[in-house]
Amino acid sequence: MKKFPLAKPFIGKKEIDNVMAVLKSGVLSLGQRHLDFEKKFAKKVGTKYAVSVCNGTAGLHLALLAASIKEGDEVITSPFSFIASSNAILYVGARPVFVDVDPVTGNIDPEKIEEKINKNTKAILAVHIFGQPARMDEIMKIAREYKLKVIEDACESIEATFKGQKVGTFGESAVFAFYPNKQMTTGEGGILTTNSLSVYEMCKSLANQGRGDSMQWLDHKYLGYNYRMDEMSAALGLAQLGRLSSFVRERQKIAGWYKSYLSKYADLIEVPVTASDNTHTWFVYVVRLKIDPKHKGAIIKELAKAGVVSKVYLPSIHLFDFYRKKFGYKPGDYPISEDISARSLALPFYLGLKEQDVQLIVTKLAKIVRKIS
Ligand SMILES: *Cc1c(COP(=O)(O)O)cnc(C)c1O
Repeated sequence: MKKFPLAKPFIGKKEIDNVMAVLKSGVLSLGQRHLDFEKKFAKKVGTKYAVSVCNGTAGLHLALLAASIKEGDEVITSPFSFIASSNAILYVGARPVFVDVDPVTGNIDPEKIEEKINKNTKAILAVHIFGQPARMDEIMKIAREYKLKVIEDACESIEATFKGQKVGTFGESAVFAFYPNKQMTTGEGGILTTNSLSVYEMCKSLANQGRGDSMQWLDHKYLGYNYRMDEMSAALGLAQLGRLSSFVRERQKIAGWYKSYLSKYADLIEVPVTASDNTHTWFVYVVRLKIDPKHKGAIIKELAKAGVVSKVYLPSIHLFDFYRKKFGYKPGDYPISEDISARSLALPFYLGLKEQDVQLIVTKLAKIVRKIS
C-alpha cells in the first residue's frame, strides 16, 4: 500500500552538492554563505535587508526586541496560528492579545482589532496563515492611526502577495521560516526581512551575542543571543531559494488537483478558499469537515490505516493548557478560530505528489468520512 506522509522536503542534487561543499571547506559557521543567503533572500522578497537566524521562532523574538516590545506592553495577534507567533510575544514579557479571525482565510479579522487597542498596545503581529496573506491594507491603516508597529509572521507564506505586494514588505519587519515542512527548507532556519537599517543592525547584532558594530570578539553592546544560521543551512537555503518559484507553482498545481477532486464531495468537505486580493503559496492543504467534529479522531485513525497521514491544523492557541492557566481563556472566547480548528484536517501535501495520488487520497478520505459520519 502506498503511504502518504503529511509533508516532506524536496532535496535534489544541487542541495546535496551545496552542503557537501561547505563540509569540505571546513568553514561551518560565520562564513560567506549566510551572507549570500541574506542578500539573495532580501532581493527575492523585495526588502533592503535580511538577517538569517537559526529558526523562525528566534526571528520573531528578534523582531519583537527590535520593535522595543517589553514587559507591560500588549501585542495584538491571531489565536489561529502555530504557537510560536504568540510565544515570541511572551519571550519579551509582553501580553499577546488575541483577535478572532476571518472565517474564510483564518487570518486576523481587521474589523475586530480596534476594540482591543488600549494605552498598552504597542504592536500588531500579523500572521499570514497556511500560505495566504492577512488583510494588510486595513492592518497598516489601523497601525498608522494608533501608532503601532507591525510585524509580519510570514513563516507559512513565502512568496504570497496581497493586492500584488509580497508578504514580508508591509511591516517594520517580517519573519520567514525554513523547517522541513515549509515551502523551502534549510533544515532548521529562519530569516528576518526589513527595510529599516536600525532594525537590521539591531537584529544582526542580537543574533550574534549582541556584538557591537566593530565586530570585535567580546565587544557586546547589549544582552544578545546565539541565533545564528550555520553555513550548511545557508548553503541548503541558497539551493532551495533558486528553485522557490517553481516550488510554489508546483504547490499551486497540487492544490488545484485537490480542489477539483474534492468538488464532488462538497456535502462532506469544504475546500480552502483563496481570497480575491491574495495569491496563495500553499504551506499546507487544510480542508474543513462539514460533519460533527467529534468524529474527527476516528477519521484520522482510519485514514492512517489506509496509509494517509492527516492532522488537526491548527488547534487555537488560547486553548492550550499553558495559555488557559496564565490568561484564563476558555472555550467560546474566539468562536471562529475554535470552529475552524475543530473542523480542520490537513492532508498530505508535498512536491512529488502526483495527480493520481491526490485522487486516491481524496477517494479514501471521502469514503471514510461518509462511513463514519
Ligand atoms: C513554522 C512557523 C514559525 C516558526 O517556526 P520554527 O519552527 O521556529 O522555524 C512561526 N510561526 C508560524 C505561523 C509557523 O508556521
